[in-house]
Amino acid sequence: ASFVPLYRDPVRFHAERRPQKIAIRDLSSGRAFSYAGLDQRVDRLAAHLRQVGLGPGDRVAVLSQNGPLVFEVQFGANRIGAVMVPLNMRLAVPELAYILADSGAALLIADAPFAETARQLASLPQLVGLRLLIADQTGGAEAYDRILAAEAERVAPYPATHDDPCMIIYTSGTTGRPKGAVITFGIMIWQYVNTTAICAVTHRTVELILLPLFHIGGLNANANNTLRAGGTILLSRVFDPAAALALLADPESGVNNVTGVPAQYQFMSYEPGFAEADFSHLDYAGIGGAPTPVPVIVQYAERNAPIFEGLGMTEAGPAIASIDVENVLRKRGSVGKPVICVDLRIVGPDGRDVPTGAVGEMWLRGPNLIRSYWNNPPGSENAFVDGWFRSGDMARLDDEGFLFIVDRLKDMYISGGENVYPAEVERVLQQVEGIREVAVFGVPHPRWGETGHAAVVLAPGSTLDEDRIIAICREALARYKLPSGVTFLEALPRNATGKIQKNVLRERFSPAEAQE
Ligand code: ATP
Repeated sequence: ASFVPLYRDPVRFHAERRPQKIAIRDLSSGRAFSYAGLDQRVDRLAAHLRQVGLGPGDRVAVLSQNGPLVFEVQFGANRIGAVMVPLNMRLAVPELAYILADSGAALLIADAPFAETARQLASLPQLVGLRLLIADQTGGAEAYDRILAAEAERVAPYPATHDDPCMIIYTSGTTGRPKGAVITFGIMIWQYVNTTAICAVTHRTVELILLPLFHIGGLNANANNTLRAGGTILLSRVFDPAAALALLADPESGVNNVTGVPAQYQFMSYEPGFAEADFSHLDYAGIGGAPTPVPVIVQYAERNAPIFEGLGMTEAGPAIASIDVENVLRKRGSVGKPVICVDLRIVGPDGRDVPTGAVGEMWLRGPNLIRSYWNNPPGSENAFVDGWFRSGDMARLDDEGFLFIVDRLKDMYISGGENVYPAEVERVLQQVEGIREVAVFGVPHPRWGETGHAAVVLAPGSTLDEDRIIAICREALARYKLPSGVTFLEALPRNATGKIQKNVLRERFSPAEAQE
C-alpha cells in the first residue's frame, strides 16, 4: 500500500490518557480492571509470549467464556504482532482440534473450567507441539496469574499495518468446515468507524456485553469498539436474561449501551420485570446478527428502547447495514442502509445488478471486508469476484435505498421448481398471537423435491394447532410456500450466538417424520 498507517494499541493509548478509568468490569468475579491495570497485564503477557519464542504472525488461541482473559490474550498477542484465535467453548474436542490445527496455533490459553479440554487437545497427535497455558479468571494462583504477577519489562506495541492479521475468527460452519476469517488491524479501525458513525461510542460508553466474545459481534462491534473509545465494558461468563434485564432497566446501573441477538431480547422479554421496564436512559440498544422478528422490536420500542437493528457478518468485521427505530417501524423487515464504509450491490445469476426491488445476492466491498480466509485458497477464491465479497445473503433494495434481507442462500429451498425463502413464511407466523418463536426450513419431499416444515414454540396457554397454523399461512402465502407440517417444540435449537440452527432442524425432521 502507498499509505502505511500504524495502528495504535488502544489499551496503551488510554492507559496513557485515562489510567484510572475502568476498562473492564467482570461481573462474574467482581474484579475491575483500569486501563493502566489492563495495560500492565497485557504487557506482562506479551513479555511472556515473546519469552516463549512467539512473535509477529504467530497464532495464540483462547478458550474461555466471556471474561477479561479474552482481552488480555487479544491485546497481549497483538502487542507483539501475534494473532488471537478465539475458540467457541461450546464446540466438541474434534471441532476445536480442527480449528487449532487449521490456524496452526502455537499456544492455547484456556480458562480453568476448560483446563481438562485443553489438556485433551494438547495430547492429540495432530496438535503435537501445541503449548498450553491455563489461566484462572477468578484470580486463583494458576500459572497464568504467576506470569501476570511477575515484574517484566515494558513491551513497545508492535507497529502494525493495515494488512497485518490481528485475529482469525472462525465462522460457525453450518455449511461445511468452519472458515477462518482473517481480521486485520486495518479492518479493526474501519469497522470501528462503521459502528461509531451510527452510535456514538465514546469514553462515556458503559456497555453491557451480551454476545459471546468468540464471535465477531460481541468481540468487535461491541467490546473492542468501546475499548478503543476509552469506555467501559461489563462482562459476565454466561448470559442471564433476568440479570441482564435488571441492569438495562435500572437507570442507576450506569449501563447506557447494549447489543444482543434477537433471541436474547426475546428471552429478556419473557422475564417478569419486562412489563414495567423503561429503557429511555439508554443511548443505544443494538439488535441483529440474525433475522429479527418485528414484534420483538415493537415490544422494546414501546418501552422506549433506542433500538437500532444491524446487519452484520464475520467477514465484514461485522457491520454492514443499520436502521433506527423510526425507520424500522416504517419499513418493517428492512435492515436499513449500508454503514459508512460499505459499498453494496444486489447481483443476479448473470453477475449483473438486478433492477431496484428485485431479489439477488448481496455483494459487498469496503476496507472493513476480509481479503481472504485463512489457509483456504479455494474458499477465498469462491468468495470474491473482482474485489467484491459474495455474502451468500439474498436481498433486495427498495426505491428509497432500504435493504431487505430475503434469506440466506443456503436456507432457501425449492418446492415444485419454485424458490421459497423460509424467512418470508416465518415473518407471517411471527405476527401470530400465540406463537413465540418459529423456524421454517426445507425438507426433502418425494413429489415436490423439497417442502417446508415449521418448528414452533407456542406462548404459554396457546391452543394453536397444526391445521390452524397452516390455515393462517394459506391466507397470506402462495400454495407452494405453505409448510406441509408443523412440529411443536419447547425451544428451538440455537447456536452460541442464539442463531436458530436450521441444519439441526433439517436433520432432525427427516423426510418420513416431516410428512407424518
Ligand atoms: P456460517 O456462515 O458458517 O454459517 P454464521 O451464520 O454464524 O456462520 P455470521 O457471520 O455469524 O455467520 O452471520 C452472518 C449472517 O447472519 C448474515 O450473512 C445474515 O444472513 C445473518 N444476519 C445478520 N444480521 C441479520 C439481520 N439483522 N437480519 C437478517 N439476517 C441477519
